[in-house]
Amino acid sequence: MVVFCFLVDQTRKIRQTRPVAGSCSRCKRGAKVADMLTSTRFCYIPIYWRSWKAIICTSCGATLKTYRYK
Ligand SMILES: [Zn+2]
Repeated sequence: MVVFCFLVDQTRKIRQTRPVAGSCSRCKRGAKVADMLTSTRFCYIPIYWRSWKAIICTSCGATLKTYRYK
């Protein structure tokens, strides 16, 4: 018997946030710079991580801008 596993998922975590000048275009509240971490899992085993930065709004959850590290 052969078991195939095609279960791939991604989880996105906010590691830390800092206040930043500017406000959300949707709700007009304060935007924040967030250090994000995306991990890709294959059959529940993390195989790949990526760090990135984004300007997000913690009030409505909007992602206003994303940056790549480097
Ligand atoms: Zn907002």
